[in-house]
Parts: sequence; C-alpha cells; structure tokens
Amino acid sequence: MRILVTGGAGFIGSHLIDRLMNEQHEVICLDNFYTGNKQNISKWIGHPHFESIRHDITEPIRLEVEQIYHLACPASPVHYQYNPIKTAKVSFLGTSNMLGLAKRVKARFLLASTSEVYGDPDVHPQPEEYHGNVNPIGIRSCYDEGKRIAETLSFDYHRQHNVAIRVARIFNTYGPRMLENDGRVVSNFIAQSLQGNPLTVYGDGSQTRSFCYVTDLVDGLVKLMNGDQIGPINLGNPEEYTILELAEKIRDRINPEREISFKPLPQDDPKQRKPDITKAKTRLNWQPTISLAAGLTETIAEFKQRLKV
Ligand code: NAD
Ligand code: UDP
Repeated sequence: MRILVTGGAGFIGSHLIDRLMNEQHEVICLDNFYTGNKQNISKWIGHPHFESIRHDITEPIRLEVEQIYHLACPASPVHYQYNPIKTAKVSFLGTSNMLGLAKRVKARFLLASTSEVYGDPDVHPQPEEYHGNVNPIGIRSCYDEGKRIAETLSFDYHRQHNVAIRVARIFNTYGPRMLENDGRVVSNFIAQSLQGNPLTVYGDGSQTRSFCYVTDLVDGLVKLMNGDQIGPINLGNPEEYTILELAEKIRDRINPEREISFKPLPQDDPKQRKPDITKAKTRLNWQPTISLAAGLTETIAEFKQRLKV
C-alpha cells in the first residue's frame, strides 16, 4: 500500500515508518522538521519504497495515497507552547488539509489524538465516553482544544463526506529517539540522570501518568488503521505511576546518588491520568506487552549511546 505519515520524522512517526517499511509498504514521510529529526528516518533515505518531503501541513499538498497516518503536531508542552498560535493552526488547518486530501483520494485517515482531550480529568481511569475537563483559555489549550477540534473535523468529514476515519487517543508514550531536550518527563529524567543534573519534579510529584512503550503504541495504531473500528479508542498502558515514583525508578537505575529537585507545577497540569483500555482490548485485540522496566532499559541504552555518556 502507498501510505502517508505526517510527522514521520518525529518520535512516534519514525517508529511507525520503520514498522510500515518492514512490512514492505510504500511510505511517504511529510514533515517540516520542527521537532522531527532527519536522523530518525535516515536509514530509509534512498530506499526505493521511501520518500521524504519537507512540507508544513498548514499548507495544502496534492499526493496520491491509500492511507494517511496524521501525526504532525508538536507533542511536548515545551514545544507546543513555544508558538501556541502555530500549534492551534497545525491542529485545525493542518488536520483540515489532510482530511481534504483523504477525501480527494479516498484514503483512510487516522488521527493521532491524545489523552489531553480529557484535560484534568475528574473521572478516573478515563473511558472514551468521558467528555473531559479542559480549560479553553489556558496555556495547554492550543494543544488540548486543538486536538478536540481535530477530532471534531475528522468526525464531520466522516459524516458529511464519508471519509473513512480512525481516531486514536494516545496516552503518554516513551522510548528511544525522544529528543533529549524534548521537555517531556521520561526524556527529561533520563537525560538529567545521565548528564549529572538533578531530576526536576514539578509540584510534589504526586500527579500520575501511565507510560506506554513506543512499539506497543505503534502496534495499536496499525491495528486501529486496519480494523473496522472508527474510534475514538484509547491507546496507552494502564500501569499508573506518580511522577515522583518515576523519578526514583529512573534515578535508581542510572545513579542513585542523583538529587531530585522540586519545581513549580505548570498551570493546568493534569493531576491523574490512566487509560481505560477495555475497547482497545475487546475491539482491536490490542494491549501493551512491554513493562515500564523493560521499556526503560531500551530507552536508557539508546540515550546513553546518543548522548555519548
Ligand atoms: P514529535 O514532536 O516527536 O513529532 C511530531 C512531528 O510532527 C515532528 O516530526 C514535527 O517536526 C512534525 N510537525 C510539527 N508541526 C508540523 C507541521 N506544521 N508540518 C509538518 N510537520 C510538522 O511528537 P510525537 O511524540 O512523535 O507525537 C506524534 C503525534 O502523536 C502528535 O500528533 C502528538 O500529538 C500525538 N501524541 C503523542 C503522545 C506522546 O506521548 N508521545 C501522546 C499523545 C498524542
Ligand atoms: N514533569 C516533571 N518534570 C519534568 C517534566 C515533566 O515533573 O522535567 C511532569 C509534568 O508536570 C507532568 C508529568 O511530568 O505532571 C508528565 O509531563 P509530560 O510533559 O511528559 O506530559 P503531559 O503533561 O503532557 O502528560
């Protein structure tokens, strides 16, 4: 199949491309390299089934493809808050352009949505039916509301124009190739521990997250794309940890002597997050297989190699 991956040079996108290329598909990577990295896709450059196009998805593009995995959007709070108006444009205009493309060429379209659509949830764990608790005017809104409108657009293209859509609500995902300066928690704690800096825990560290290893997540995306469920479907690992527990786990693996330093909690930081994955289990026959311990081993090894420490 001819498959487009927007955001393909990013963290999740590049792992997805590895999977699709290994399955002998023809893959087009569309990326403006804002947070993506050529290194992530370098092994496929020159392969006859692979094409990389530098393009900003807020501008339209004409391509012929059968499936579109739409991942392009900065995902770390540091990056999506750097230019929040651009983040909102990527979410709305970018998604609208990609849905327009899907409509024109009759491609199946998968949106990489997020658990952030649940905001700071007052239902725990979060099932897909929960409508969320999102601040529409806060510093996270460009991303949270951006993904909500991207879901709305996807469903309206489906209802109005019959576009075949799939919507994945992705929960915190980690693994090799996360940028060391990405700002997200797993990459921060690993880079800090390896580089001899204190681990920065925001707030008192009692807020929780659930961490999914990237190859598990990619498997869920591929199953969703090729199955008959439209979604939205939560994809994440339901093992829940406090951020302080995570800091201690990572520190103890790399250097138990490292200090943990407490910093102010950012505005609207969700207090708890854990996916209800009943739908993914029963309808996609998907569930994560890689424990946090095993995933951290792989991730730390790749960071060590990349950071040369
Ligand atoms: P990432 O920042 O590594 O990847 C995003 C990619 O999109 C980058 O390669 C970036 O250069 C590209 N991009 C950004 N703006 C663009 C634009 N205007 N035009 C073209 N390309 C553009 O992030 P990621 O963690 O790989 O996330 C991928 C997708 O998954 C995002 O849509 C994100 O919202 C979603 N998601 C990720 C997580 C997670 O924990 N990693 C959780 C929920 C949802
Ligand atoms: N966090 C932290 N220290 C860091 C980076 C993040 O304590 O150096 C916290 C952050 O406040 C949040 C959690 O870790 O409570 C997850 O943050 P991340 O940015 O990875 O993802 P998100 O908040 O989008 O789930």
